[in-house]
Amino acid sequence: MRNGHPEAGVDYPRTYADLLAWFPDDEACLEYLGRLRWPGGFACPRCHAHAFWRTGGGQRMCRACGRRTSVTAGTIFHRTRTPLATWFAAVWFVTSQKGGVSALGLQRVLGFGSYETAWAWLHKLRRAMVRPGRDLLGGPGVVVELDETFIGGVSRGGYGASTDKACVMLAVEKNGRKIGRMRAAVALRPGSKEILEFAQQVIAPGSEVHTDGAQMFRRLTGLGYTHERTVGMRTADKESLLPGLHMVASLLKRWTIGTLHYGISVEHLPYYLDEYTFRFNRRDSRSRGLLFYRLLQQAVATDPHPLKELTWQPPQALAAEGEGDP
Ligand SMILES: [Zn+2]
Repeated sequence: MRNGHPEAGVDYPRTYADLLAWFPDDEACLEYLGRLRWPGGFACPRCHAHAFWRTGGGQRMCRACGRRTSVTAGTIFHRTRTPLATWFAAVWFVTSQKGGVSALGLQRVLGFGSYETAWAWLHKLRRAMVRPGRDLLGGPGVVVELDETFIGGVSRGGYGASTDKACVMLAVEKNGRKIGRMRAAVALRPGSKEILEFAQQVIAPGSEVHTDGAQMFRRLTGLGYTHERTVGMRTADKESLLPGLHMVASLLKRWTIGTLHYGISVEHLPYYLDEYTFRFNRRDSRSRGLLFYRLLQQAVATDPHPLKELTWQPPQALAAEGEGDP
C-alpha cells in the first residue's frame, strides 16, 4: 500500500501466475481476506481488543474475551464447500474479461459440473460489486445528469415470456466534457417520483443536477439540489441535452445485448446493472489485478446469499449464449 493506493505485486496479484502462486490453499486465501476485511488490523467485534489466536478455518479468537470471529462470516464466501482458491480464480476470471462473462464461460473455465452452480456464483459476485455505503455522485464542480432510459430484451419472467423493455433510472457525472461515475437502478414506476428517491440515494445534496425538464424534476430544488432544466428543447434533441447520460445509456444497451446474449428477466436486471456500474466506474483502471482486489474487498463486506434466495430461472437460449464466450 503506497499512500493508501494498493500496489500491483504487493497488494494484489499482477498476473494469473501470481494468483496461483499467492493462493495455493484456503489458508492463504483466508489470510488475504482477513487483510481486506480489517485493513487497520483485526478488532474483536465484542470488546474491540486487537490481539487474537488463529483457531483454524479462518476463525480468530479474541485473546481478551474469547469471542470467535470468522473471516468469512457475513460474506459470500461463508460456509462455502468450494475451495477459496476456486473462488479467487472465479473473481480473477470475472474481472479480467473486459466485457464481463457469461455463466457458461465461467462453467467452462472452472470446470463446474453444472451450469446452475456457475450461474449462482456469477450472481453472488455481482452482488459483491455494489459497495455498501459507497460514495455519492456529484459534489463541487461536478454536474450530474439524471433521466430514465429503456432497455430492450428484458423478459417479464416465465418461460418463453415475451420480451419487453424495462425502465432504468440513470445518474451520470459530467465534469466539463469528461464523463465520471454512474449509478443505475430499475424503475418500477416509470415517470413517477421514484426517480427523485433514486436521486436522493445516489447524488450528494447540493449538487447541480441536469434533467430534461420534465414536471417531476421541479421538486429537485426542494430536495436541496441546484436543478437546471433545459426548457423548450424538443424530444429529438435529448441526446445533445444530456450528452453524458445518453452516451452511458447507449453503452449499457450495447453491453446487455453483446454480453448477455439472451433475454434478461426483470428480477435479475438489478444484478446486471450492478455489474455494469462496477465495470464502468473502474473503466480507467490500468490493472486487471486492481479490479480483482476491489471486488474481493467489496465481497468481504457483503452478506451471504444462498442460492435459494436468488430466483432461479432456467436460461432460455443456452446454445445461443455459448457463441460469444471468451
Ligand atoms: Zn474480544
